[in-house]
Amino acid sequence: MALFDTTIDARSGHARALTYETAHGSFQTPMFMPVGTSATVKGITPDQLHALGAQVVLANTYHLSMRPGAKLVAEAGGIHKFMNYSGPMLTDSGGFQVFSLADTVKLDDDGLTFRSIYDGAKIRWTPEENMHIQELIGADIAMQLDQCAPYPATKQFVARAVDLSANWAKRCLDAHKRPDQTLFGIVQGGMHLDLRLESIARLRAIEDESVNAGGRRFGGFGIGGYSVGEDHEVMFETLGEVARALPEDRPRYLMGVGNPTTLVRAVGEGVDMFDCVLPTRTARMGTAFSSTGRMNLRNAKYAHDFTPLDHECTCSTCQNFTRAYLRHLVKQNEMLGAILLSVHNLHFLIDLMRRAREAVLNDSYDQFLQNWMASEAAQDY
Ligand SMILES: [Zn+2]
Repeated sequence: MALFDTTIDARSGHARALTYETAHGSFQTPMFMPVGTSATVKGITPDQLHALGAQVVLANTYHLSMRPGAKLVAEAGGIHKFMNYSGPMLTDSGGFQVFSLADTVKLDDDGLTFRSIYDGAKIRWTPEENMHIQELIGADIAMQLDQCAPYPATKQFVARAVDLSANWAKRCLDAHKRPDQTLFGIVQGGMHLDLRLESIARLRAIEDESVNAGGRRFGGFGIGGYSVGEDHEVMFETLGEVARALPEDRPRYLMGVGNPTTLVRAVGEGVDMFDCVLPTRTARMGTAFSSTGRMNLRNAKYAHDFTPLDHECTCSTCQNFTRAYLRHLVKQNEMLGAILLSVHNLHFLIDLMRRAREAVLNDSYDQFLQNWMASEAAQDY
């Protein structure tokens, strides 16, 4: 397979199983990507990531560009060498963090001006500068700079974000040159199907123009602007049509979603990739995913419970430690508690997507979805 080629291994209803080729090996979908914000999935070593079956690890351009700086990452030989992770990696553009973290962000047609949360330094990002930073960091997949509209927002505001994001998509695609890295375009449009379809039409026109001029095409497509505070049912009113309006022959990545039931349903609508800080962030707060729903390890009922965290789980935490011990670690704020729960929670989502892929390969995804929706876990997510 050539670099950034997609093979459709199987389909089951709208669900797909893909294999995608990168310079750091191939990955298979459906799949969940652990988030390594500052070039580390908090508390988890690269060996553990491999053992968990993580296929792509995400890193944040906003944070890395400020600490330690994209040039330092490049000096180390790129993000893979810097953090010693040998598998495929993806960087977001950091645009989402600019809007969510900065007190004052100035948006104009040409880019973003904001202050660093680290030292207050004034920073200017144009689409071209953002591509340059992501090329320095050197993940396998870069994301275009875009504007994610908040929810709720007026339709006029969302339409303007679609227009701006499309203009920046073109500038990112024109500026992006690194041959061992691909660029994903991002669909915006909030909860408005017509704006979503317009966003997709713009992206397709941009890449047609680029390809006709001898340039590159997008390696895949992010679906942004969901999971921004709306009810999940609101997202599912449009998600399926949006996913299936994207080109068949490339991955569709629903950004920032980590709820297990949402993942299973979104795969059924034709989505292939997911990322979220949820499994590791909730682990650090003492909460575990499980086959029976959420478990808060601070709960007194686990104090004398010497059984595994989740009887159905095959992760190393569940094979080796009891609920009583994990509760003790969480209560004492021991770092091992956060680590062991992070291992378990990441395993939960990675394994859920591995089983989803199996169901697609067996052409039984509908059954898999029905079984999940009838499960005890689905009642709690
Ligand atoms: Zn487990």
